[in-house]
This record gives sequence, C-alpha cells and structure tokens, in this order.
Amino acid sequence: MGMRIVVTGGAGFIGSHLCRRLLDQGHDVVCVDNFFTSSKQTIEPLEAEAGFSLVCHDIIDPWFPDGPVDRIYNMACPAAPGHYQYNPVRTMKASVSGLINMLGMAKATGARILQASTSEVYGDPEVSPQTEAYRGNVNPIGPRACYDEGKRAAETLCFDYHREHGVDIRVARIFNTFGPHMHPFDGRVVSNFIRQALAGEDITLFGDGGQTRSFCFVSDLVDGLMRLMEVDDFTGPVNLGNPHERTIRDLAEHVIALTGSGSELVHRPLPPDDPKQRRPDISLAQETLGWSPEVALEDGLGATIEYFKGLDLDQWAPPTPFWEAPPQR
Ligand code: NAD
Ligand code: UDP
Repeated sequence: MGMRIVVTGGAGFIGSHLCRRLLDQGHDVVCVDNFFTSSKQTIEPLEAEAGFSLVCHDIIDPWFPDGPVDRIYNMACPAAPGHYQYNPVRTMKASVSGLINMLGMAKATGARILQASTSEVYGDPEVSPQTEAYRGNVNPIGPRACYDEGKRAAETLCFDYHREHGVDIRVARIFNTFGPHMHPFDGRVVSNFIRQALAGEDITLFGDGGQTRSFCFVSDLVDGLMRLMEVDDFTGPVNLGNPHERTIRDLAEHVIALTGSGSELVHRPLPPDDPKQRRPDISLAQETLGWSPEVALEDGLGATIEYFKGLDLDQWAPPTPFWEAPPQR
C-alpha cells in the first residue's frame, strides 16, 4: 500500500529524482522546499500528479504536517561548496535546527527518517578507501566546516534521538553524485565542466587536477537511498557512492571527449581544505542493502550532457556572495 512520504529538499537535484521514483511506486509525496538552491523547473512535471504536493517552507522553522507521515527523507541543505559557503550560518542552521524540526516530526508521527549525510564527514581523509568506521579529518574552523561539521552534528542528533526517543533513523553518507537536474551554476565540478565544455569556454582545473573523487550517477544513488529507507533493523551510517576513483583531470578529459569540445584546460588555485582523495568502501551497502552502482561514468555523463544542452541558462542564477541581494528564482 502507498505511504505518505515527506521529502525535504524535494525540488533539489537528488530530491527531485527521489520524488519522481516515490510517485512512480504509488506513494503520496509531500515536497518541502524553500528553493534556496533549486528551481521549480525540476518538479514542474510532478505538480500535475494527484499524489504530489508542494509546501514552500524553510525547515529551519518548525512545520507540522496536516496528517499522518510514514517516511521522511531529509535532503534539505545547500550541498555545493559555492552554495553552502554563500551563507554558512544558515547552512549550519539547516543541518542542525532544520533536522531537529524533522526529527521532532518523526518522533511525533512515528515516521521513519532518513538523513542525507555526506562523505564530507570524513573531511580530507587520511585513509583510502573510506569505511564507515573511519572518524575523519575535518578542519572545524575552515570554509567547508559549516557543511562538514553541520552534517557531523546532524548524525549525532539522529543517533541521540534514536537512543533517547526511539526514533527510527537511517543515515546515508552520500559521496559525489551527478546527473540531470544539477544546478548549472552550483560550482560543482561536473556541472562546471559540462557547462564550460558546451560553451567552448576554458575548463577550470583547481590545483593540478590530481585530486580524486568517485562519481555516482543519480539513479544509482536514489536506488540506494530507497533501499536503505526500507531495510529493517539497520540505522547505518552507510556509504552510498561509486567506488570507481578518478582524478579531476581525468574527469575533465572525459567531458571534453564526450562533448567534442575544443575547450582548453586552465589551472586555478585549489580552494582551502579541498580533500585530496575520496573513495567509498561500499562493502556495508553491498551486504546490508544488496546495492552497488550500475551506471558507468561515460553513460551518466552522456545523459547529463544531453540535459545541459536543453537548459536555458538565463533561467538559472549563479550563487551570489552573501553581501549581494539573493538571486531571484
Ligand atoms: P541541492 O542543493 O540540489 O538540493 C537541496 C535542496 O534543499 C534544494 O532544493 C534547496 O532549495 C533545499 N533547501 C536548502 N535549504 C533548505 C531549507 N532550509 N529549507 C527547505 N529547503 C531547503 O543539493 P543535492 O545535491 O540534491 O543534495 C541533497 C542532499 O544530499 C543534501 O542534504 C546534501 O548535503 C546531500 N548530499 C549530496 C551530495 C551530492 O553529491 N549531490 C553528496 C553528499 C551529500
Ligand atoms: N573542481 C575543479 N574545477 C571546478 C570545480 C571543482 O577542479 O571548476 C574540483 C574541486 O577543487 C574538487 C573537485 O573538483 O577537488 C570536486 O569539487 P566539487 O565542488 O564538485 O565537490 P567536493 O569538493 O565537495 O567533492
């Protein structure tokens, strides 16, 4: 039977795909979003569907659902470095105050709640690949800390609500994910490189491009999140990501080859605290969820490039420094 499922951040990149999949499974979906880092374009096709409703709300403020809730996916948080550093205090508030509101809702309604945590809890890791047992290497006072420490505090809150109030939690540590519906100006590497390649602009390699990431296509990630939500007797945290590690230079070369672009690679300074390597050990997800990513990087990039080709970039605002007026969306 269909459930009533709240998806905070449901208009965002991952959230919009998740809403689509949940609707396809026959659930009622309540998308709660303040459109801070997203555009309504991503969920426009969903709005006509009977099972879908949209609540424009900032989760930093309390919100009470108008009926029962079975599941809560807490995806709401600025996720790209350019977005979460735009207003770092609000980023921390979204991770902490926003999550407290959602955990309170889970406690009041008896809903199971899944927290979208991140590989950033490992910081600039000194071990590779990263297992869930690794406690991380995070700079608590750097420019990434509002996000990294916010997400670490969020994990703490999940486990304290679980121990103290019996809230049924699931914690997913999501590694770099990409695909259609990424914000074209979010400053993340896949969106930057594809946008630059399609426009024939220089491709900006930060540092020497030798740092590594492991890129997971969004359909695989959403599948992992949904499996985690529905598995019994398992809180996580569990790594969800693609274990195929690549240098950023290698990613740039793939994007140039797949777009047929004449763009040149140019070097820009490496941002502070930029992790040198990142690769998930996904043994736990394989054992407990029967999950492994299936989409190859080339196929995922191909689908993302096609999506970006169809975008009207004038409809999307770049992140704006906090001293300027917020972008209109
Ligand atoms: P995104 O920025 O596209 O989506 C986040 C959504 O949350 C947006 O629609 C935004 O408007 C909304 N939002 C932000 N603050 C809010 C608030 N206070 N109240 C209500 N809505 C708010 O990001 P994404 O890539 O889809 O990430 C979704 C979640 O997954 C985030 O929690 C992020 O930390 C986590 N995550 C993502 C990745 C990744 O590679 N994409 C990796 C690790 C973790
Ligand atoms: N990066 C880059 N050029 C860009 C954007 C990002 O070389 O135009 C690098 C960035 O320094 C980092 C990697 O790509 O090493 C991934 O960056 P992203 O912001 O996508 O994610 P995160 O650092 O949070 O993994």
